[in-house]
Amino acid sequence: MGFRSKFENAEKALTFNDVLLLPGWTTLEPSEADIKIRVTTNVELNIPLIASPMDTVTEAEMAIALAREGSMGVLHRNCSAKEEVDMARKVKRAEAVIIRDVITVSPDMTVADLLKMMEEHNIKGFPVVEGDGELQGIVTWRDVRLAESSLKIRDVMTEEVVTGSEDTEIDEAMQILHEHRIEKLPIVDKNNRVQGLITMKDITLKGTFQEAVRDEDGRLLCAAAISPFDLPRAKALDKYVDVMVLDVSHFHNKNCFDAAKLVLKEVSADVIVGNIGTYEAAEDIITQLDGVAGLRVGIGSGSICSTSVVTRAGAPTLFATSNVADAVKAYGADIPIIADGGIRNPGDVAVAMAVGASAAMMGNVFAGCRESPGRLVAMEGRYYKEYYGMGSAKARQKRFVQDRYSKPSKSINEGVEGWVPFKGPAKDILDEFTGGLKAAMGYMGAATIPQVWEKAKLALVTENGAKEAAPHDIFRPGPSRTI
Ligand code: 5GP
Repeated sequence: MGFRSKFENAEKALTFNDVLLLPGWTTLEPSEADIKIRVTTNVELNIPLIASPMDTVTEAEMAIALAREGSMGVLHRNCSAKEEVDMARKVKRAEAVIIRDVITVSPDMTVADLLKMMEEHNIKGFPVVEGDGELQGIVTWRDVRLAESSLKIRDVMTEEVVTGSEDTEIDEAMQILHEHRIEKLPIVDKNNRVQGLITMKDITLKGTFQEAVRDEDGRLLCAAAISPFDLPRAKALDKYVDVMVLDVSHFHNKNCFDAAKLVLKEVSADVIVGNIGTYEAAEDIITQLDGVAGLRVGIGSGSICSTSVVTRAGAPTLFATSNVADAVKAYGADIPIIADGGIRNPGDVAVAMAVGASAAMMGNVFAGCRESPGRLVAMEGRYYKEYYGMGSAKARQKRFVQDRYSKPSKSINEGVEGWVPFKGPAKDILDEFTGGLKAAMGYMGAATIPQVWEKAKLALVTENGAKEAAPHDIFRPGPSRTI
């Protein structure tokens, strides 16, 4: 084959702005569209939008906010394993009917130490235990706020503790909490060892978020990213997370496959692998890696990504999704696809679904939210939050200090640093995106996401068509939101 034929055989790597969804016959009102879908083999979301594992996008606060609304954020890994485990624990502890991973204190601790712990964990009361978890008392904010800081916990704690057992039902627990005017009910076994904790706050919260996605114990679902080469971190996180994302920019790589095999064997969480961008990558995963629960797809489309500029390598998200979806279909594999990178509008999500995605992952869109960790700054009268790529100089610098598994295997940066407009609470973004996605489904006459896969028809647009498809010939001031 001659070199020139490479042009003739070159594929068209289309992406979101190159296509439109053709409207179809519909009997459906947008509000009737059902957007629930499995985003991994075992995890279903009520809203199929996922926040990227980036240190300016997803830490515990974002993960909690999204899970409460029925979607999900993937905790980033640009920190020590301990810090990431702590974030996952925070998500799991955010609201659980029974907290299983109870933080306890010893009677020999001082009031000063306890106050520090309260601040660190943002918890106002702890069971006091000795030996192998035997309950000695309970200590709360009220016991210590005016106490001498050198006093021991045993001198200030309440010794008479009202407790429940594994058989205590929620209604019963509520009644006990009310009767005794207390906030916390330790659950103990027959040897008085602490097995769990029921709190008034968690019971009250449970009714608040009807759409929340939860595990079997009623705790919020939690996802976290790891490097495929960091097995110890994978094992440490496995206790707390439902979904683990093997997070590399080019997963179709022998070393990554070998490392992933080990992780897949060792962890019980659903494992998403990526990023990939081609039919062949999906084919190799399906045929060589057992137990993969999700595929993260798209290379080089991210808004902070400079991979394609620096290396000219890339697989735009829409093109990549269609290729991977074809491989999944050809092999009859039951592996959901998450389209990742370059998604700016709800219509982009709908288009990604038109070519087989189950969910969309977004960094830029969520980075501007109140719950993202990035700094909020005012510039020229508007608010912005910091957003940078995980391959940018800034993120890489942080990682190499923190994480010995991420030594620089590449000597160049593949991401940039910048700012995105502040957008308010994540819930507003979810409302906007679910509204838009459902409206798109209305135009297609698709009542569910699997129907989008079947029914959606695409049209290619010209450059002029793309310009006409966006608002034009009108002056509009830029977005401006207050805190
Ligand atoms: P966005 O939603 O901002 O368009 O894209 C977010 C996605 O970009 C992330 O989920 C991730 O896949 C990808 N990404 C994050 N940081 C970098 C980076 O520094 N370089 C590249 N190539 N991709 C990145």
